[in-house]
Amino acid sequence: MNILAFESSCDETAAAVVRDGREVLSSVIASQVETHRLYGGVVPEIASRQHVEVIAQLCAQALEEAGCTLDAIDAVAVTYAPGLIGALLVGVNFAKGLALARGLPLIPVHHLRGHIAANYLAHPNLTPPFLCLVASGGHSHIVQADDYTHFTVLGRTRDDAAGEAFDKAARALGFPYPGGVAIDRAAQSGNPDAIRFPRPQVNGAPYDYSFSGLKTAVLNYVHNAAQKGEAICKEDVAASFQAAVVDMLAHGFLLAAADTASTTLVLAGGVVANTALRRRIENDCAASGRRLYLPPLALCGDNAAMIGAQAYYEYQAGHTAGADLNACANMEIG
Ligand code: ATP
Ligand code: MG
Ligand code: FE
Repeated sequence: MNILAFESSCDETAAAVVRDGREVLSSVIASQVETHRLYGGVVPEIASRQHVEVIAQLCAQALEEAGCTLDAIDAVAVTYAPGLIGALLVGVNFAKGLALARGLPLIPVHHLRGHIAANYLAHPNLTPPFLCLVASGGHSHIVQADDYTHFTVLGRTRDDAAGEAFDKAARALGFPYPGGVAIDRAAQSGNPDAIRFPRPQVNGAPYDYSFSGLKTAVLNYVHNAAQKGEAICKEDVAASFQAAVVDMLAHGFLLAAADTASTTLVLAGGVVANTALRRRIENDCAASGRRLYLPPLALCGDNAAMIGAQAYYEYQAGHTAGADLNACANMEIG
């Protein structure tokens, strides 16, 4: 089954053709990062307009790179939640129009389910159940994937997402948006023990996260130094901040893995591109004998191939939509 998939939940417009949920025939992404960088973050109104400008062209490009026409497409899939509502609506309406015009099934896909499904594209032998850490720009979840379309959230952030914390810490250090990559790079030549930033935990909820205290600690550190006219070592701040985020993410996730006796662990979302986080979980899994699946770097951030992968399993479960499909800014993964 060939699925033509679209993603437009934030600041990447993407289209892909995916076969049977596992094989990427094409995947194209138009990133708006350069535009939003001017403002230090995503401007929703601009994001929507840029999606409108490029989505038809991306669709054509995805088909061309897959070496096929619409005649070879069996279903259309689209991210319909969660995300920026105006941005989501562009993808949803384009997919809806295409499905209607061609008489094809329309498959709505939850964005975070898509992030998890990115792993199916890279790991042919990966099947649920497994325990997953989803760490992205807007979410930090510990999720039990009971099967391809049933999820139980064991833990979540109470405030900022991990990616948001990376981006805000990066901004304080003067790195361009989105700052996760810049912190990752700077941290490689910094000392993670230079500054002892806090690693807050949520009382009575060991799988939940709270990153806002850590974020504030970094902002205070940078601003205090600036007020006193003291120089800071950006590499040390980046490495010390990153070490705290990695400790927090790893601690909750590995605790949940132990408590649920999970033997298969999966990472998903933009933040799992982080070098230190990958190394940390890899080392722990090697020591504890758990199987670990990581998406390749190219599939960590937003893309449509992951949406096409998840769509295949949603379709198998009978999850299709009609022309009344709407986008939704907030929606639980379950
Ligand atoms: P969501 O998926 O929650 O809706 P999103 O789609 O905006 O949010 P993603 O595309 O999954 O988020 O991930 C983007 C986030 O990942 C940004 O916050 C970015 O800074 C972060 N990120 C990307 N690469 C790295 C890295 N190497 N280290 C740390 N963070 C990173
Ligand atoms: Mg993005
Ligand atoms: Fe995302």
